[in-house]
Amino acid sequence: MARASDLIFSGHAGDPAETVDTQKAKSSMLGNLLVSSPGQIWKSRISWRIILAVFLTILTVQAIILNFRLKEFETELLGALRENGRAAIAPLIIPNSDTLASPFTDESIERLFSATSITAIAVYSSQLDLIKTYGQQLALFVAGSDSLSRTYRSADGTSYEVIYRSSDLRRPYVIVARLDSAHVREAMVEFVKQTFLVMMLMSALVTTVLMIALGRWLLEPILFMRGNLLAASKNPEDPKIQPSPFDPNDEIGGAIKIAQDLINQNAANLRHFKHEARSQIHKLAYYDTLTSLPNRTLFLQNLAHKAKHDDDEEVPRFAVVAIDIDHFKDINDSMGHNVGDAILKGVGKRLRAAMPETAVVARMDADEFAVMMPLSTDINTARDVAERVLGVIRSEPFKVFNENFQVRASIGASTFPDDSTEPDGVLKNADIALNRAKEEGRDRIKEYSEDFDRAVQQRFQMLRDLRDALEQKQLSVYFQPQLDLKTGEIIGAEALLRWWKPDSSKQGGVFIPPNEFIPVAEQSGLIVPIGEWVMEVACQAAADWNKKLGKDLRIAVNVAAAQFVQGDIVNYVQKVLRQTGLAANKLELEVTESVFMHDIEHTIRTLQSLHAIGVELAIDDFGTGYSSLSYLRQFPIDRLKIDQSFIRNALNDQNDASIARTIVRLGHSLNLKVIAEGVETKDHEKFLLAEGCDEVQGYRYSRPVPLEKFIEFAQSYDGNLASFDKT
Ligand code: C2E
Ligand code: MG
Ligand code: MG
Repeated sequence: MARASDLIFSGHAGDPAETVDTQKAKSSMLGNLLVSSPGQIWKSRISWRIILAVFLTILTVQAIILNFRLKEFETELLGALRENGRAAIAPLIIPNSDTLASPFTDESIERLFSATSITAIAVYSSQLDLIKTYGQQLALFVAGSDSLSRTYRSADGTSYEVIYRSSDLRRPYVIVARLDSAHVREAMVEFVKQTFLVMMLMSALVTTVLMIALGRWLLEPILFMRGNLLAASKNPEDPKIQPSPFDPNDEIGGAIKIAQDLINQNAANLRHFKHEARSQIHKLAYYDTLTSLPNRTLFLQNLAHKAKHDDDEEVPRFAVVAIDIDHFKDINDSMGHNVGDAILKGVGKRLRAAMPETAVVARMDADEFAVMMPLSTDINTARDVAERVLGVIRSEPFKVFNENFQVRASIGASTFPDDSTEPDGVLKNADIALNRAKEEGRDRIKEYSEDFDRAVQQRFQMLRDLRDALEQKQLSVYFQPQLDLKTGEIIGAEALLRWWKPDSSKQGGVFIPPNEFIPVAEQSGLIVPIGEWVMEVACQAAADWNKKLGKDLRIAVNVAAAQFVQGDIVNYVQKVLRQTGLAANKLELEVTESVFMHDIEHTIRTLQSLHAIGVELAIDDFGTGYSSLSYLRQFPIDRLKIDQSFIRNALNDQNDASIARTIVRLGHSLNLKVIAEGVETKDHEKFLLAEGCDEVQGYRYSRPVPLEKFIEFAQSYDGNLASFDKT
């Protein structure tokens, strides 16, 4: 059987599109359903409790009434019995002159006993003297006038003894009679039976009426309300509740109306909050909080959307331009994040304002932006778009806290579908072009070319090969001597990494230049384990020379910026020194100016800790870096290493000569040693000697060589720089 409650929820009263008519029809159908549903009442626990309570109450009240009525009924019956007895006895009394003689004849007594319910009689004179008894022995006897009103009823109820006074009989006798009262008992039982039946019928009737009333006025509304609440709890946001057919002016109808109002209000609130939360989540997921521009995810979605077209439609063309603010990290580090943020906001704002509505401007990452712009006859190449973007950024400085900041940017541009038919492929290509622009010195536009892709592929291949190289022990460390320019003595060596990559050529392999693989290792983080390994090998070698050769040589090890950022270099160096037994001042770490581009605070702390344990520090390739000279004073540096490009050209380029000269003077003025690398000829040496340079390293003395060769060199070298003249 379909329950009314089941049927109630199958409708969609909440649907605003529903017409008033259909709602009315539904509610009348609902009304019918609700009125005749005894099944609900049978199943209702509460109805059963109420009904049982009412039924028992009625029964108890009736039982009490019956009790009273039963007594009355018995008294009535016994009164009638007594009266019948009196009426039978009185006419049989024949008054005697002798007041002590019996007024009955034996025949009259016999008739009396046979025709009436009287079974025994005792006759007393009016003076209460017993004259005679007839029939069985009586239980009642008259002792005095005060006992005249007594009656006696046998325990089994079959006999009833009464006293008739002279006044009752209108004769001068007092008669005690025993009456057969068995029928009184039967009549009473019958009376009880009948009354009980009536009681039951009445109770049943009242209960039935009550059940119907309960069902109609209480149970149905409660079940209706329960149904609505259930529906609301199942789907609080869009509860399928029916309009109430109950009069809202009565208590339950009113309660239902309040509950429904609450459910609807709750649903409206939930919908509202959900909508708010959704739009908040959407904002967080798809927009950048700083600039309010779309983020990478939304940008990619837009690209995919823009690239979509039907087969018979013309393929859309659009440009994707990836933008990176040059040296943004420096601005952030030196001027603070507030300035950095303000510049990013300014760039975003300027780009958005300068691009047409059809373009999408997004912030992709910290200092990276991207623009997607449909190409038209006006602007029909990605380069046009990129130039517009660069023009916008360069047009005038950004004003932050009343200071002007001239911002420059590197830009990579690519075109859909020319450079890639995949939307995210165009973005990837723009990024590749952007990296190219950065590599080529920043502040420029690079359009994507397939060659870039090949270069990227080659880098990936190089990275895979380098991983194998590390496992297959294809890496080795070479050593290049460093000499004291004034005394000619050998003072140490620089450890230089070598990668011998076996192949099928005649030579059986080829050396991959460090300048090719070190940048790949640095970008991938692989330089950390590789650099640690070099440090270990180099320190072990230096410790061995000093022990076995009885020399006091220093080993210079190149340390990449990534090792400062990622590894715990201080602990590692200490560990290696402990393991190899090399004195700390026999280890020199060569860092390039690029380490100062990262977290300056961290770099200072690390360099200070290294210096504190006695390790020496040199700045490699000095003069080529971007950073200012101010760090020279801040950092605990021991040595400047003039970049080989200045030495190479010193003899034929006045500028390079004066840079080399300036570095020597600068170093000395700061109490630093100065070493020159790339010393290839005697003329180079002469120049450096004249400028007062302290130390030298270069092909003139020795190329970087394997360990055994270096040992040979160190043992055979006599400390005379002139000995290299012949070679
Ligand atoms: P660098 O540290 O400036 O090393 C000096 C480079 O100059 C070496 O090149 C060396 O072979 C070369 N050289 C030395 N004397 C002369 C000379 O007279 N003429 C010419 N033309 N070149 C000379 P190499 O070994 O190819 O290393 C290149 C760069 O690779 C190094 O420059 C260094 O930055 C990096 N590198 C090498 N080994 C390691 C290493 O173990 N760790 C790290 N992080 N970088 C390394
Ligand atoms: Mg070096
Ligand atoms: Mg160098």
